[in-house]
Amino acid sequence: GLRRLAAGLRVEFRAARTDRHGQQHRLVLGAHHRLCDRGRHPVHHLCHAQTLVARPAGRRRVRPLPLGGPGCPDNPDSPDNFDGFVRTNRSGRPGVTGPIGRSIAGPIGSPGRRSEEGTTEARFHRESGKRETTDQITNKPTTMTPKIDRQHVAQALRGAYDRVKNTTGGKNADYIPYLANVPSTLFGIAACLTDGTVVAVGDTEYRFGIESVSKVPTALLAMQQYGAQEVLDRIGADATGLPFNSIIAILLENDHPSTPLVNAGAISACSLIKPVGDRDGKWQSILRFVEALCGAQVGVIDELYRSESETNFNNRSIAWLLKNYNRIYDDPDLSLDLYTRQCSIGITAKELATLAATIAAGGRNPVTGEEVFRAELTPKITAMMATVGFYEHTGDWLFNTGLPAKTGVGGGIMAVIPGV
Ligand code: GLU
Repeated sequence: GLRRLAAGLRVEFRAARTDRHGQQHRLVLGAHHRLCDRGRHPVHHLCHAQTLVARPAGRRRVRPLPLGGPGCPDNPDSPDNFDGFVRTNRSGRPGVTGPIGRSIAGPIGSPGRRSEEGTTEARFHRESGKRETTDQITNKPTTMTPKIDRQHVAQALRGAYDRVKNTTGGKNADYIPYLANVPSTLFGIAACLTDGTVVAVGDTEYRFGIESVSKVPTALLAMQQYGAQEVLDRIGADATGLPFNSIIAILLENDHPSTPLVNAGAISACSLIKPVGDRDGKWQSILRFVEALCGAQVGVIDELYRSESETNFNNRSIAWLLKNYNRIYDDPDLSLDLYTRQCSIGITAKELATLAATIAAGGRNPVTGEEVFRAELTPKITAMMATVGFYEHTGDWLFNTGLPAKTGVGGGIMAVIPGV
């Protein structure tokens, strides 16, 4: 089902701007899936970049930049492939010497930010619909006009939805009794673009248990409070290659809980959240942070919280085993309870899409305009998602889609394409 869903997705971003020397730069950035000629599975085509430079005389130079992104065996000249951010060098001439697609081929960076030589820093301006850019050398603002085709995104979602809506395989997670009773016919897809446009199809207003998708905001919050390096030192950022609740992974890596995106690391991340020792204060920090990311008020589904609290014996063992290895930085029971509560937050697909778009936009919620976290954390969290977002199946997912994404046993999947 996921493969078929991926096969129907196509997202595209276009923009153009004229630099101060009168040269026009056009760019197209996007992702889509289609069936590979050589196999029967979808291949993600977010793996090549081109910069089209329209010269004043009208002559056009096209430079394909193979980025070697995941899962793309095909040639870079295909019209199906996509372009990256245009950069100019110090002399103001279009410079395509650097890895311009770093922001779109995982591990993924925040939109249009970095360049040794390059100058463009892009931020979307909601009211005017313009993409504001700042020349990092001269500090002068320039503009890029986005041409995101909302209709195109809507069609892609509808197409993907129609392809998989009758797929009935799989089954609900039932080790948490509440989840076993969630209607399995519910299905919705929402996309939020970095201009704040939300496109949705299906059951996108239903509030389902966020479950492990909540590991993403808490990892971000821990990095926001402590800095990315300290989270790396205290928790880690490695794939375990093992199931989400693995105890063996802790024994094998007794030095680290591996990553905040598996249960052990997520409980450890909850223990880090400030103010340490203050149960309510910590919970408010997490809840407010999730709300700021998704631009909506959210709350705990009480029945889910009770159901999970009564049955989370494996997670209790994890919390105390981590304590044994000095990888819990607050009271173990308090940390576990916070983790269970955050997993019980009810969220809609639309809210999850906005959360993803806030990450894609480098920490600025594109719907509310709030600066929620520091832009440098986007590539850190998308690297974690790309590494272990689907636990031991992450490689298969990434191979097929190229998208950093995070699952939850409540049925949610959240994917991020930075800058789009
Ligand atoms: N709360 C769930 C657990 O700890 C989350 C698992 C998941 O969504 O992957 O078991």
